[in-house]
Amino acid sequence: MARIHCSVSNCNYWKNGNICDASEIMVTSDKIGDTMPDSFDAPQASTAPQTPVSSCMETCCKTFVQSGSPAKNADSIYRK
Ligand code: SF4
Repeated sequence: MARIHCSVSNCNYWKNGNICDASEIMVTSDKIGDTMPDSFDAPQASTAPQTPVSSCMETCCKTFVQSGSPAKNADSIYRK
């Protein structure tokens, strides 16, 4: 798997060196990020609708969950 660099340091999956330590992530459109629950994440990616956008400003990491949040177990993602 490609190394994912990420500077969102308050994410549950972030680690020193600005590395994403999640087992898998889902990048999607801001609209999906706004409307779908935390349980909708990388495990559902293969059946998720395609969401083309016009620029990076319209994308988000759906896997983000704040460190320490009770919601961190909602998406079946784990730290590697
Ligand atoms: S899950 Fe997303 S927001 Fe969190 S560290 Fe990985 S890439 Fe960054």
